Order: sequence, then C-alpha cells, then structure tokens
Amino acid sequence: MINRVKAAVAQLVGGTGSSSSPWNCPECSLAFQYSRPAFLHLSAEESERAADHSTRPILVTGQDRRRQLLPWDTGYAEVINAGKSVLNEDQAAREIVSVEKRVCKNSTAGKTAKDDERDGLQFHYWALFDGHAGADAAVMAARLLHLHICEQLRDIVDVLRDGDVPPPISLTSNAGVVTEGGAKSAPHQGDWEPPTDSESRFLLEKEISHEYLVIGAIENAFRQMDQQIEREQSSHGYLGGCCALAVVYLLGKIYVANAGDSRAILIRSGETIPLSNEFTPESERQRLQYLGYLQPHLLGNEFTHLEFPRRIQHREIGRKMLFRDYSMTGWAYKTIEKDDLKFPLVYGEGKKARVMATIGVTRGLGDHNLKVYCSNIHIKPFLSCIPEVKVYDVAKYEHGVDDVIVLGTDGLWDVVSDREVADAVIRILSNCEPDNPNRFTMAAEDLVMRSRGILKEHGWRLSNDRLGSGDDISVFVIPLYGHT
Ligand code: MG
Repeated sequence: MINRVKAAVAQLVGGTGSSSSPWNCPECSLAFQYSRPAFLHLSAEESERAADHSTRPILVTGQDRRRQLLPWDTGYAEVINAGKSVLNEDQAAREIVSVEKRVCKNSTAGKTAKDDERDGLQFHYWALFDGHAGADAAVMAARLLHLHICEQLRDIVDVLRDGDVPPPISLTSNAGVVTEGGAKSAPHQGDWEPPTDSESRFLLEKEISHEYLVIGAIENAFRQMDQQIEREQSSHGYLGGCCALAVVYLLGKIYVANAGDSRAILIRSGETIPLSNEFTPESERQRLQYLGYLQPHLLGNEFTHLEFPRRIQHREIGRKMLFRDYSMTGWAYKTIEKDDLKFPLVYGEGKKARVMATIGVTRGLGDHNLKVYCSNIHIKPFLSCIPEVKVYDVAKYEHGVDDVIVLGTDGLWDVVSDREVADAVIRILSNCEPDNPNRFTMAAEDLVMRSRGILKEHGWRLSNDRLGSGDDISVFVIPLYGHT
C-alpha cells in the first residue's frame, strides 16, 4: 500500500520554492520540496514576495484570469507570519479524489458523471496543516494525506457504493474474509453455518454504519500518514510536526477531522455551529495525566502527572496545596511531598499552556524526534495523531447561498471569535451578487486581512487597535449551496 502512495506522490512532489528557502540547497536532497500550495499557481517572483515578513501580502485563489477558481468556488487566502519563522509553516490542500477498489487516482478537473460512474466513488477534500519547528511535516501531509484516505476507502468502496450492509465482525472464516484494512467481504450464500455453542460467545453480530466505516478510514489514514512522516523524518532528518484539519465530502456527508488547534465552523442562516474541537494541553489535560500516571517512566523522573496552580517551593513540603489528578475536573487539597516538586506535565494557561514545558498542541502529525529541552525525554508518547471526526449531514438541510464552512489555522482564531468571523463573512457575501464565483475568495481574503491587521508604528494592529495575529494565517471558505 505504501508503495502505491509513494508512486502517486512522485508526480506531486516539487513546486516553486523561494530562492531563499533553505529547502533549495542541493546537499539537503529533500524529497519534499517546500512550496506554497500548487493551486495558487505562484511564479518564482510571487513566491519571493509572499515570503516578505515586513509587508505580509495576502495570497488568494481566483480573482484574475490566470488563476483558476477552486472546485465549488471555494475561497482560499493565506499570509505569512510576522517573522516567527523564515517559512510560512502553514500548508493547504484542495483535491477531488476518485476511489475504486483497484485504481486510485488524483484528479482535479474535467471529470464527468460518466467518469464518476466508472471510477466508483469520488470525494472532495480540503485540508489545512499548521507546521511547528519547521514546515516539513506540513508539506508532506499536504501532499499525501488525501492519498492515505483514498487507500483506506478502497477497502470499503464496494460497501459504500452499492449500499450493502457491512458484514458483521466474526472470528470464523465462514462469516466473511478480513481484508487488509480490517473491512470484510460478504460471506458466500450457502457457506454459512450456525456457530457451535463454544463459538457463539465470540461472535459479534454488530452492525456498523457506513458513516463509522468512513470515520474509521479517516482515522486510520491519519495514523498511516503519521507513520510515513516518521519514516521520512528518520531517513531525511526532517524535524517538527503539524496540526491537521481535513474535510472530506463523501456521499452527501461532510466529515471534519481535526488533530490540533485549527478550527472549522459552519455558518448556516447566520448562526455559527462548531464543527471541531481544539486539542491543547488544557483541553486534553486528563488524558495526558492518565498516561503519565499509568507509565511514569515516560515522565523521566523530571515531571509529575499532578497539576498544581503554581510551582511548589522546597520549603512548602508538608503543607497543604490545591492539586488536580487525572480523574478530577475540580481542585482539592493534598499534603505536599518531595515528588510534587517536579515540574508539572501540563503547565501554563491558554496559549501558554505546554506539555512538559515544550509543546502547545496535543494532537497532530510528526514530532517523532521531539524531546524535552536538554534531556532524553520524548514528547511523542503524549501526542496523538488520531483526529476527532465530526459528521455533518449536508443532505439533511436546505442551504442558502450564504451558508458556508470556514476552516482556519490558529492564526485566524487567536484574534477573532467565531461570531466575528461569521459577521464578516455574511457582510462580504451579502454585498456580492449571489452568482459571483469570487465572493467566497473575497470572504477568505477579508478574514485573513481582518486577523493580520494593518502595519502601524507599534506592529500589526486590528481595526480596534488590538494586536493582530503575527502567526501564519490560512483560511478556506467552502460554500454549501447546491451541494447535497
Ligand atoms: Mg499557527
């Protein structure tokens, strides 16, 4: 399977890199060259300009004759950070992927209904990747994750396409054949025999909906992607990781898979509906603490899985102090012991919260080599590559021309609220003719401009003089009208 993904990738690797990019040095021999998303069709000069941290020009799709609009007239805009890293560590992907049992191919245009019929299933895909400690993981994931999802869906394409009820899980060969990805072919008529008494207790006649098969395929694709990044990182010396937010539209449903602190919201009839949760040291504190409790060796005798409201001094041993364990949401008192002087596994608040004083997100791809500073303590065991997948049944609702899904990296959400995003999008869309295909691009551009702000004497400032986002910012605005 990995070879098939690699072969498909061979056609995708490359792109226009900035001449100042450290990825362009020949001795690096990098398999995944840095570039901005291919769908932006940037020239070398445009790439160079886009990397200017002092002017921070906003890049968009569409809007001129040379740049094609994205399928569904999806709007996209991005801007580089204000200097926190040389490269824009965000990446984006927009694909239409055909899936069939034996052939998996990537296509972006020119498909007809007849093609779809012959190919089997087709899914639409949008994704944002927010890299940290380098752009490597984000670049790899942007070029590969949809192929891993395709590979996983191949195992169930017949079931999804023909509407068959998925076969039940069984330990007997008579009840179906397990395929590579865990899905099973239907049992042959007449082959089935009732289980004996000793077998029956092991038979699980559990019906699994198509929806959960797709969710499982996406979850497994994230795991495969993470493993591939690990292999590439060890062979090429790549560093870092990335948050991943992916949207898959398949058979009338939208699957939003999130691993990290990017966010997706639905704006429907003017209301905002969250489609993802962020995964941070604070939101996943109990999972992290439980792992530290179960496997204390992962803490390297340097950290405690307990949380305290502040660092404890040596002279406080024997006194009472508020604490929280993995099973608690509230706080209680305990008598301080010597072990409690260790640094807390989860420490800090809000954007400053960190796992082992190192990283501010708890799910994502990569980070296989990440260690606590000046130690041999690995962070990866505490990070999960598995996304939370939420499902939105598009076909269940009638959508208006201004109903959209907005995806954004944390550069957007750190400085504007869901409500502010919705109000801005509604304002832009309602000021455009409904048949203007550029209106979603204009909305995405407005969101990036709004969160970046204007460069003033005291840095990038929003319209109310609050500090603008100094992070990389990437935004998709996905229209829902007419897509069921
Ligand atoms: Mg970011």
